[in-house]
Amino acid sequence: MTGSENEKTPQKFSQKDYHHPAAAWGAAFSVGRVLVEQGAIVDGVRAIFKMNHENSGFDCPGCAWPDDRKGLRMDICENGIKHVTWEMTKKRTDREFFSRHTVTELLGWSDFELENQGRLTEPMVYNATTDHYEPIAWSAAFELIGRHLRSLSSPNRASFYTSGRLSNEATFLYQLFAREYGTNNLPDCSNMCHEASGRALAASIGTGKGTVDLVDWQTADAIFVMGVNAATNTPRMLSALADGVKEHNLKIVHINPLIEVAATTAITPHEILDMVTFRATPTSSLNLQPRIGGDMAIMRGIAKYLFEKFETDKSSLNMDFIEKYTSGFEEYRAACDATSWEEIERQSALSADQIKAAGEIYRQAPAAIISWCLGVSQQEYGVDTIREIVNVLLLRGNIGRPGAGPCPIRGHSNVQGNRTCGIHHAPPESWLSKMDAACGIKSPRQHGLDTVRTIEAMHSGEVEVFFGMGGNFASATPDRDRTFEALRNCKLTVHVSTKLNRSHVVHGKEALILPCLGRTEIDQQAAGPQAVSVEDSMSMVHLSVGMNEPASPHLLSELAIIAGMARSTLPQSPTPWEQYTGNYDLVRDKMAEALSGFENFNERVRKPLGFRLSQAARELDFETPSKRANFSTATLPDTLPPPGKLIMSTMRSHDQFNTTVYSDNDRYRGVKGLRTLLLMNEADMKERGLEQFDLIDITSFAKDGSTRSVKDFRAVKYNIPRGCASGYMPELNVLCPIGDFSAQSDQPMMKQVLIEVIGHK
Ligand code: SF4
Repeated sequence: MTGSENEKTPQKFSQKDYHHPAAAWGAAFSVGRVLVEQGAIVDGVRAIFKMNHENSGFDCPGCAWPDDRKGLRMDICENGIKHVTWEMTKKRTDREFFSRHTVTELLGWSDFELENQGRLTEPMVYNATTDHYEPIAWSAAFELIGRHLRSLSSPNRASFYTSGRLSNEATFLYQLFAREYGTNNLPDCSNMCHEASGRALAASIGTGKGTVDLVDWQTADAIFVMGVNAATNTPRMLSALADGVKEHNLKIVHINPLIEVAATTAITPHEILDMVTFRATPTSSLNLQPRIGGDMAIMRGIAKYLFEKFETDKSSLNMDFIEKYTSGFEEYRAACDATSWEEIERQSALSADQIKAAGEIYRQAPAAIISWCLGVSQQEYGVDTIREIVNVLLLRGNIGRPGAGPCPIRGHSNVQGNRTCGIHHAPPESWLSKMDAACGIKSPRQHGLDTVRTIEAMHSGEVEVFFGMGGNFASATPDRDRTFEALRNCKLTVHVSTKLNRSHVVHGKEALILPCLGRTEIDQQAAGPQAVSVEDSMSMVHLSVGMNEPASPHLLSELAIIAGMARSTLPQSPTPWEQYTGNYDLVRDKMAEALSGFENFNERVRKPLGFRLSQAARELDFETPSKRANFSTATLPDTLPPPGKLIMSTMRSHDQFNTTVYSDNDRYRGVKGLRTLLLMNEADMKERGLEQFDLIDITSFAKDGSTRSVKDFRAVKYNIPRGCASGYMPELNVLCPIGDFSAQSDQPMMKQVLIEVIGHK
């Protein structure tokens, strides 16, 4: 890949550090611009007052931040409006569009240009002779899928991928179909993002989820925010932070190689008085800028500091909690003693004093939350790092009480619900047997393939049919060229989508695009307009009800598409697919039988804000083999790059949601008109003879010795620690080696890639 593809002539891009509060007027003007650009002023304003409203509104298709408890009229953010207006656009990608453009031509378009064509309007099938997508009837599309799936020598030669937007009800039917068909090949975006969080939390406290909720965020005395670009990827967090500072002097520590705007000040737009008086609230008490991979060292340092303070102040550790609820304390103490401050400083690139300052903020806080996102989980030692976070929480009993606990931040609106409702390639026996008993099927017990292994299986021909439920697999995954080859190696690729994207133009021998209803659209079924549910980062399950007429009369709901495929593939299936499609309450009744925690689902989900899934760990009942919360004692790994090399992390810009790119700008990082860039430390640039915006070639080095390169990117001087660099996904996913996945989480290491940078004129 070369940078010149979507690069404007040099003077047309720029970078100037951003010194304004997060959100504030910048966000307000941006929302105005987006509404105008998408021609959705009226619908957009209607959406602003409907979005994220308990039981009468639709759930934002963006991140998974929970809905406000204070009855906020405008419970939205700038990026939420971008996501929604992008879906509500008046633009259409219809049969005329496809008749004008060959797939080969579309392959040369940028991700922005593809999606900016607007909403898909009817099912399309790829015609290899004409190299065009052409209309196909739904019945014929289902027949084509059914024929392929029935023709496979084994159900495990098919794969059913999910992106984190799929509702709980559609998720449940999707996994039910895959398992009735005979496979656990259910990879999902979580395999690339949150596997580390689930595995670490399960090992430490017996649950795969965080234990706090929004009320805890509003009552905590200290909140640590690790590896999160909150103002872009979960913007409503800013309200919780700013309100906490204003209402009860909340202490906030941001830990991130980049000082993102949420780690400065913010004005939350619904605070009209603050807006008109430009009164910004500081949303950080302390910023720590470790090198990439230095998070575990910081947590180990904070623990070490607590042990040292305990010698003189016994309140530094909650020994009552430790003795009553934990195991492994002495072993962990020994591990901390064995870790020197020199090694902690080396691995974190911070001074002991900086870490002790964070430790003191933590020690002084009666109740504290530690939150994290991909900046931590997409690391090689993500599981050990998250277990170290839990260690620190256990030392002061910060779990299972108000204002305290671990909180992984989910970047996709229902990624947590997907896992809860069955999207898991390696489901526990207890989950399968309960689901089988409720649904009258016999699920396969052989574990399926996760995302990385699905790519390899498609590449080797072991998997011949790929079904993508939402998302943009071709762009979201690592090792772009290998993924492209893998998808092209399939007999059939099918994508259920709302808009055209790269996965449609990187396709199998046969290919289908199946357009579905959006989250904002009315889902009319036999029993009337239907609601679906989602589960947010804090285990709250609530309803989402569309409000707009569908973008086309030919769209089907995700549930109807799954049912159509299922009936075509399994004509004798005893599962009442058609009834389920006609009335989603029937699906929820079945989920109430099949899933723990969903009892009386239909009744409870209709309560204002829905209900919180119960969680044993939140009640200090740890479902671990020891029946206690377990300290972990992992050795601090050496994550420093060899001389001359850098560690690169991929990231999203502010004008982007996952692989959906809204523009080439990144307001909060001061970037205009450029995506083919690499943020670098000034001294690292000097060392390589680089000036601002010099052209560079970037090469990555995989553990198996293979290399991957991109050319003609631009070096951009930025406040980032020595030895570290950052650039945008999906453009830099091509550098992420498929084989370099974490042995702890099986996640591809999208934020820990060994690279070399060479400049050229
Ligand atoms: S914070 Fe997340 S869920 Fe909320 S409106 Fe913004 S993008 Fe949507």
